[in-house]
Amino acid sequence: MIYLDHNATTRVLPEVLEAMMPFFTTEWGNPSSSYKFGSKLKKVIETAREQVADLIGAHPLEIIFTSCATESNNAAIQAALKANPGKRRIITSAVEHSAVLNHCMALEKEGYRVTRLPVDRDGLLKLADLEAAITDDVAVVSLMWANNETGVLFPVKEIAEICRARGVLYHCDAVQAAGRVPIDIRQVSADYLSLTGHKFHAPKGVGALYVRRKAPYSPYIHGGHQERNLRGGTESVPLIVGMGKAAQIALKHLPDYGMRTRPQRDKLEAAVLSSVPNTELNGHKTQRLANTTNITFHGIDSEAFLILLGKEGICASSGSACLADSDEPSHVIKAMKPEGAQSRSMIRFSLGLETTGSDIANVCDEVRSLTEMLRAAIT
Ligand code: PLP
Repeated sequence: MIYLDHNATTRVLPEVLEAMMPFFTTEWGNPSSSYKFGSKLKKVIETAREQVADLIGAHPLEIIFTSCATESNNAAIQAALKANPGKRRIITSAVEHSAVLNHCMALEKEGYRVTRLPVDRDGLLKLADLEAAITDDVAVVSLMWANNETGVLFPVKEIAEICRARGVLYHCDAVQAAGRVPIDIRQVSADYLSLTGHKFHAPKGVGALYVRRKAPYSPYIHGGHQERNLRGGTESVPLIVGMGKAAQIALKHLPDYGMRTRPQRDKLEAAVLSSVPNTELNGHKTQRLANTTNITFHGIDSEAFLILLGKEGICASSGSACLADSDEPSHVIKAMKPEGAQSRSMIRFSLGLETTGSDIANVCDEVRSLTEMLRAAIT
């Protein structure tokens, strides 16, 4: 198998699994218990909290563990709305993940108003549009760090500065950025920032929400006293430990992440664009994650192409994994290039640290021969 779908999920690293194992086998107590067998696990959770905080330059007390980034995104937006009951507008972008967009859509049904900022053909946002959209009724701005489909990076530092200057809370979905680009929350003054473990080699089912120390927050999941009364529910100690360990490893690899993934990604992209006719890159050439390339193959149905790639053992996708079973064309590519049918003919290849040169050479060969075959079948 050649796995080029790291934006969908990543494999659990052996070191991460090893760190988690005792908490599945021998150390299975409840951290809230009064006896030591359980209560000693509190310390284990705090170590993981420090490791996750370190990945983004935060204070550990600013990290709340959640079940996934979908929960983190929902919780942050809800907290901001609750803190501003008189303000009924949310600003987001047309290219956010469904974990933000569908939550906003549900809020619209409750009477909130949502402004979805457009992007240009490269997937970039105009800061002037954000400035103009911030009116007195805006409670929160939710704009992502890196796009999951194209890898395009938003200017989060500038976005945060605008929100701060205008007195509006800013939530950032940093799911695809964590472990791939440096995140220093002291430099980017977001109020809330969402993370999920499974995009950086932790297991699925554990996420985190950063909440700036002075930002308003009220629980989204009501229950017990866990997470300093901020998120009810018995902590999943093994998953939290896994996320902590994976965050520690991701931080270690961060300095060479770009150096290792970009050359392979560029090789793949250049080979496909130059040798397969009627192809087009989606997303800005440079303002992009080093591991992601999103390419339209004009005239080819992406679902048929993915099936054939899959038969050759190549895993890629046609957009967000969360929407893969829907018939809808990519809302991200549609927002960038509304006139065309690109949104049904695109493939996202997202590489990881373990992707090799020979993987890329094989994928290039398969892409060339499969596209020839598919196009010959149409004509
Ligand atoms: N936000 C972005 C940008 C994502 O790519 C994803 C996952 O694909 C999510 C949020 C949702 O993450 P989770 O699967 O942890 O809910």
